[in-house]
Order: sequence, then C-alpha cells, then structure tokens
Amino acid sequence: MGEDWKTEVSKCSKCGKCHTVCPVFLETGDEAMVSRGRISLAEALRDQQIVYTNKLRDYVYSCKKCMRCRKDCPSGVDYEIIISALLRGVAENMGIPLLPKIIFRYILPRRILFDTMLKVSSKIQRFIPMKKRGQMRHLPLLFMGKRWIPTLAKKTALQKFRNTKKLKNPRMRVGLFTGCLINYIYVDIAEAVVDVLNKMNIEVVVPQGQLCCGTPSSSMGDVKSSRKLAEVNRKVFESQGLDAIVSACATCTKTIKMDYLRTLGPSWKPISDKIYDISEFIYKYCGEEYETKPIEEKVTYHDPCHLLWVRGISDEPRNVLKKSSNFVEMDMAGSCCGGGGIFTIIHYDLTLKMLERKVASIERSGADTVATNCPGCVMQIADGFAGKNSKIKTTHSIQILQRALANGNINREK
Ligand code: SF4
Ligand code: SF4
Repeated sequence: MGEDWKTEVSKCSKCGKCHTVCPVFLETGDEAMVSRGRISLAEALRDQQIVYTNKLRDYVYSCKKCMRCRKDCPSGVDYEIIISALLRGVAENMGIPLLPKIIFRYILPRRILFDTMLKVSSKIQRFIPMKKRGQMRHLPLLFMGKRWIPTLAKKTALQKFRNTKKLKNPRMRVGLFTGCLINYIYVDIAEAVVDVLNKMNIEVVVPQGQLCCGTPSSSMGDVKSSRKLAEVNRKVFESQGLDAIVSACATCTKTIKMDYLRTLGPSWKPISDKIYDISEFIYKYCGEEYETKPIEEKVTYHDPCHLLWVRGISDEPRNVLKKSSNFVEMDMAGSCCGGGGIFTIIHYDLTLKMLERKVASIERSGADTVATNCPGCVMQIADGFAGKNSKIKTTHSIQILQRALANGNINREK
C-alpha cells in the first residue's frame, strides 16, 4: 500500500459523526462496518497489531463506497483514500477470488470476449426456466448469484451506435461513455441520450473501443486491471478530439472524471474537465434554450450517491425533470437505494433493507414514476417495485426529457 492513507487515518478524531449517515451502519449497527471502525482496523494494520483475515476482508468489502461519510466528516478525512488502500491491501495479501480475477484481467479488457460471455448468458436466460419477477429475473450464479436483474439487450449500445449520425452544422461534438449496464442492459438510456442531444444539434459519437470504466475491479482492490482499462479508455477518447464527454451513469462519471486523475495522473486533467453527467451537460450547455411539453405524469427524483455525495450534483437533474414533467420531491431523496457495485452481490440482503426505505419514500411522494441518473439505481429500484407488483415505474431522467421533447420545440439558433 502507498503511504497517503496513513496521513488520512491520522486525521480521524473518532467523533462518530459518520455513524449518523453511513447507510450500512444504520442497518447493521456494527462498528466494523462504518468508516470509524475501518479506520481503527487500518491503524491496527499499520501498527502490526492485526493481520489480514477473512473477517477483516468481509468488513472491508461491506463498505458501499458511497462517500456519504466523507461529505460530512468534520475532520476532513478523505475516507476514499483509506478504503482504497484497505481494498488494495486485501487484494495483495489475500488475493482476488478466481472468478472476478478472470473477469477483470481477461474478459473486461477484451470487448469481444465480454460480448460473447454476455451473449451466451442472454441465451441461457431465454432457455433455462428461471424465476421471473416482472421484467426482472435471476441470472445464473456465474453472474449475479441471487440478485434479480433485467433481461440483457439483444444488441448492445456500442453495436447500435457504431455509426455516428452526422448533423449538418452541429454546435458541439460529444462522446458518450456508455458504461456496462447501459451498454448491455439499458440500451434505451443510450438511445435517449443520443436522441436528446441530436435534437439539441449536438453530434454524439459512441467510441467503439471503450471498455468498462474499471469500478468493479477497483472495488476489489485490483489496481492493475483498473489501470489497464483506464489506459485503453484514455487512448480511445483522446483520439476523438471531442468537445465534451457525457455519461448517463453516475458511477462511471465519477470514475472517469475523478478516479482516473489518480490512476492516470495530471495528464488526464484536460479530459477530466470535459466530462459531464448528462443532466449537468444539458444544464451547462443547453440551459434554457430547449422547450418542452411536460408529460402529465408525477415524477420524483432519487439522488444517486456518486452524483450527490461525491460530485454535489442535485439541481441539474431536477431542473431537467421540472421542465419535462409534473415534478414532486420525495423525502430522503439522497438516502442510498442500496444498489451499485459488488456490495449488491455480496450483501444482497442488506441492500434490500435499504431499498425498502427508498421504495417507501417514493410511495409517500405520490409519484407515478421515479427517475434517477444511474442505471445501477434504476436496476435496484425497479427490483424493489417488481417485488411488490407496484405500478410505479423506474426510469432515467434523460428518458423523461426525451418524452417531453418529442412534442417540444428546439431553438437551434441559440
Ligand atoms: S466522521 Fe470523520 S473524524 Fe469522525 S469518526 Fe468518522 S471518519 Fe473519523
Ligand atoms: S463510504 Fe458509505 S458505506 Fe462506506 S463507510 Fe462511508 S458512508 Fe458507510
């Protein structure tokens, strides 16, 4: 492990403020499952009072890396540096489980292999009678264990947008970073991004060589794999000469905009400055220039942790939704839905408890639809409603704008 985590560890005053906000601690009440407890474990490792064990690994893996605690820490502890070092330490001292290791090292860096693996699994989805719940199914153990997930798309977003739709005099040319969930499952979200931006006279390129952002591998401390993916993505996006890069996935945006600065160094800064969440981009570059015919549905918004607590973005998606629908706010919009990353696979039962609270908040809002800006949250919340046979729909906020724009007018001169 590098040494910067030791500086962060020494900043912690053990005040316990993180206990009041950590979604995992609020469910478990377990001191070893919150930043203060893990910081104590890091100190004990530093002082060679303990060694890496299975129990320690479980405590490290039980962090959602939502960064809610960092936002409110009165001592300014950069907990992300500490949890990343602990994950690296677990990987270096105990190894990475074989299946994820194969996926991170051999499948994620090879798009053809990744496509093939998921194509096979989509065929299995069709032929093996699996439990089904609304649009959600159990995938074979190989992929998600007991987690419910939607059907994989027949054609990926990258395949669908292989050729860029050329616009006559586009005002900007932007690249879309799809991320895995949108590429393989929620292709309709990619379609909405391209459709909306094209209507705003912005040309959208979907660079074909792009790979997974690397979040899954970094979540298990596999720094080597994450760096390899980041380097490929750097080459692919740098070579396009784009005015901006957008993503509709809160976690991918955080990773390629912020984490790559650490992985790739300061040379990534000029590109990082051009990376936006899709609603952030629309707010900044399209502002008031688009007209909409708001849909009549009552729509509420769930804040994805990586957009709200890491990037402080909350007004921009609401602005899009207020212009596109009958917007209603829910209580506790910023509380974690439980979705995202390996946490939802390892601790599915815990994520369901968080999800129950989220579903209750959405129901209290009286909304017909809940929109959010992360496909991981879409999947998680849709799972919650499918389990209840609820009529409430789950979608991405860009899809609400897409529907409102279908009847609206675009002023292309501005
Ligand atoms: S809030 Fe910050 S300073 Fe307080 S215990 Fe948690 S990590 Fe330490
Ligand atoms: S990152 Fe999130 S899950 Fe992890 S300790 Fe902080 S608040 Fe809890």
